[in-house]
Amino acid sequence: MSVTARAPSSTANLGPGFDVFGLALDAFYDTVTLSRTKSGIKIISDSSIPLSPSKNTAGLVVQYMKKKFSVKSGVEIKIKKGVPAGYGMGSSAASAAATAVAFDKMFNLRLSPNQLVECAGVGERASAGSIHYDNVSASVLGGFVIVRTKPLDVIKIVPPSDLMLCVAVPKLKTPPKKTEVSRGVIPKQINLSDSVTNLSNAAAIVAGFLKKDSRLIGTSIQDIIVEPARQHLIPGFSTVKKNALRAGALGVTISGAGPSVIAFATKKHDMQKIAKAMSAGFSGTGCDVIICRPSGGAKIV
Ligand code: ADP
Repeated sequence: MSVTARAPSSTANLGPGFDVFGLALDAFYDTVTLSRTKSGIKIISDSSIPLSPSKNTAGLVVQYMKKKFSVKSGVEIKIKKGVPAGYGMGSSAASAAATAVAFDKMFNLRLSPNQLVECAGVGERASAGSIHYDNVSASVLGGFVIVRTKPLDVIKIVPPSDLMLCVAVPKLKTPPKKTEVSRGVIPKQINLSDSVTNLSNAAAIVAGFLKKDSRLIGTSIQDIIVEPARQHLIPGFSTVKKNALRAGALGVTISGAGPSVIAFATKKHDMQKIAKAMSAGFSGTGCDVIICRPSGGAKIV
C-alpha cells in the first residue's frame, strides 16, 4: 500500500513576523509517496538532497512519527522535489509537510492540524539546525499562518483573493546550512522602540489578512530588526527592493532566511513590471523570478 501527498512552497517571516508568520505559495510543490516495507526507512529521490533519513527532513519526520505512534512496519519515502532547495521558499518544509500528511493517512492516525505541524516541524532540524514551525505550518495548513509556541498552536487565516507575490531568487551559491548561517547574524538583543515598530507592523499584517485588505498587508511588510541585519548576505538586495517599490510593489522583504526576495502586490498591479524591476536589481548575480499567489495546504493526491 502506498500514499502520496503534495505540499506547497512557502515564505516565512513576511518581514516583522520573524519565526511567527508563514504564507503558502502556489509557485512549487513537493510530492512525497510513502510505501510500507518490512523494516527500516529508505529514501529515494532524484534530487540532490541528503538521502540518509537522519539528514533528510522527510526521513526525520518518518523516524519521529514511527516512534511516537509505535508503527512497527518499515517505510520507503519517495520524494519528488518541486520546491528547489536553498531558495528560501520552504523546500525542506514542503517535504516534511507532505510526509507528515501522507504518514497520517497511511496509518490512519487522524491527527489534528497542530499535531501534523508538530510532526512536520521535527523535520526542519535537518536543514535549519533547530525546530521552527513557520514554513511547515504554512505548507501543512495552507494560507497565512500565525505560529504560537509553548504550547504549539497554529492559527490559519485565508488570504485575500487578490493578493499577488513576486519572488526573485538570485543565482547565488548558498551554504549547505544556509538557514543556520542567516540565523547567526540576527541580533541577540533588540531595543524596545524597534520592537514596538515591528510589533505594530506585524499586528497590521494580521489585520490586513483578517480584513482581506491586500494593500494593508503589503504596506505593513516592514521589518527594521531582522532585514537590516541579514541584507548584506544578499548582494543587490537594496536595489532590488527599491526597484520593486518603484514598479508599484506595496512591500518588499527577504523571503524566509533568503536569499530570495519577495514583493507583495495585488491583482491590480503590473506583476510583469515588478518582476522585471527585481531582475534588473539582481543584474550582478542574475536571478529567477516567480509570480505567484497564496496556496492551499498539503493534501493527499
Ligand atoms: P529552504 O528555504 O529551501 O527550506 P533550507 O536551507 O532551510 O532552505 O533547506 C535546504 C537544506 O535542507 C539543504 O541543505 C538540503 O540539503 C536540506 N534538506 C534535507 N532534506 C531536504 C528535503 N527533503 N528537501 C529539501 N532540502 C532538504
